[in-house]
Amino acid sequence: MKHQKLSSRRRKNRFRKREDSLNDGPVNNVNVENGVSGRNGSGNDTGGGNDDDDVTEELINRLLGFYPTWPEIEGWLLEVAQSFSSFVKLESIGKTFEGRDLYVLKVDVERPVMWLDGGVHAREWISVSSVLYIVAQVCFKIHAQPSNLAVIQWHIMPAVNADGYAYTFTKTSARLWRKNRGRQDGLRYSAKHNMWCQGADINRNFDFMWSNSTPHSGDLTSIDPCEETFKGPHAASENETMALQSYWLRHADVIGGYVTLHSFGQQIMNRWSYAFINDTDYYKTRPAIKGAAEEIRMFNGEEYAYGAVSEILYSFTGGSGDWIRFNLNLTHVFDIELRDKGRYGFVLPLKFVHPVAEEAWLIFQVLTSNILKNINLESRKYYKTVQKQVARVKCFAADFNETLLQTTDFSSVSIATNFPSIATTLTNAKMLLTMLIILNLFFP
Ligand SMILES: [Zn+2]
Repeated sequence: MKHQKLSSRRRKNRFRKREDSLNDGPVNNVNVENGVSGRNGSGNDTGGGNDDDDVTEELINRLLGFYPTWPEIEGWLLEVAQSFSSFVKLESIGKTFEGRDLYVLKVDVERPVMWLDGGVHAREWISVSSVLYIVAQVCFKIHAQPSNLAVIQWHIMPAVNADGYAYTFTKTSARLWRKNRGRQDGLRYSAKHNMWCQGADINRNFDFMWSNSTPHSGDLTSIDPCEETFKGPHAASENETMALQSYWLRHADVIGGYVTLHSFGQQIMNRWSYAFINDTDYYKTRPAIKGAAEEIRMFNGEEYAYGAVSEILYSFTGGSGDWIRFNLNLTHVFDIELRDKGRYGFVLPLKFVHPVAEEAWLIFQVLTSNILKNINLESRKYYKTVQKQVARVKCFAADFNETLLQTTDFSSVSIATNFPSIATTLTNAKMLLTMLIILNLFFP
């Protein structure tokens, strides 16, 4: 009770102060008496200063440092629901004896998954090293600034074709191996070559238009097990293909974007692969690929072409991008061909590893930000602060009793309690220190 009285007095001061301070900028409130620290979150966040931050600071400041009355709570909840209407729903599930609403605040943060992979084709080493570089960048950026990137889940597969990749390291003659190392005896006999052959092209094996490829598609989608674009004995015959298809289906409701890295050719591409169809998505995603190409040009002068796969590369069936585009009805699906334009081709000297990784990271950021802009997360302007904001909202609405307000360190609650997957990501980031040490070998 003593605290409540103190706080009540303070609350009045706070509200007066808030009104007074409308022209003075944010108030940094700390209530020493009841142990509630008015941490305003500026410590590890954006540095503040913009309108979005001010909105957040205002809402937070009004929570901390005093015990709000019921009308204040109700008003606050309504305001939060209004301010973050794209992912916060305030619902009354009944009335109290005295007629007050029983509010449940439903915080439904859409957290789209960005898929990124590399190494689909064994010899395209630069795609693998670039994905690893992006992993490091993403993890450490989240680590350093959790509120900035944590609205996205990142699902990253650095080397899809692990068998093939490993094989290319075994001997000089294997360096240019493209397929996986799959073997299904009885199914991979080539009459043309009169021999059994190993491996299938994973990027021809996906169950989309698979049967539509014809012998005349020749080198680009082959039915001959000894050709390097062999599409496999049947659709999704390969372990990698099956694993990916089933993984993507399991995450179909959250995957928001897809980027696959290949080499070489310096191309940033949207859909489709099987044929050139300038549908709505083609135009919708064109600014992203164009933007990425322009970004690279400004960054280091490198030229990346942009367009649909079938438009600027060639047409082929059974590709991963088309599969996920079709089966998940996903708009933002991109294939990237990294450097170079043919001088070194697949055997890009080590000196290119770092600069190409930087380009890949840049491309990935442009595509990701474009995806976020278009993925119906209207609250994007709140991204920088949404994490701690939501945490406070949830804690507050779940149990706005005295104990919670007195003892909860909101900033620590925010990640661990409400964003367990982010907490896991942060833990993983620590584990990735090890990876960084290894990466340092590549990027001294
Ligand atoms: Zn490739």
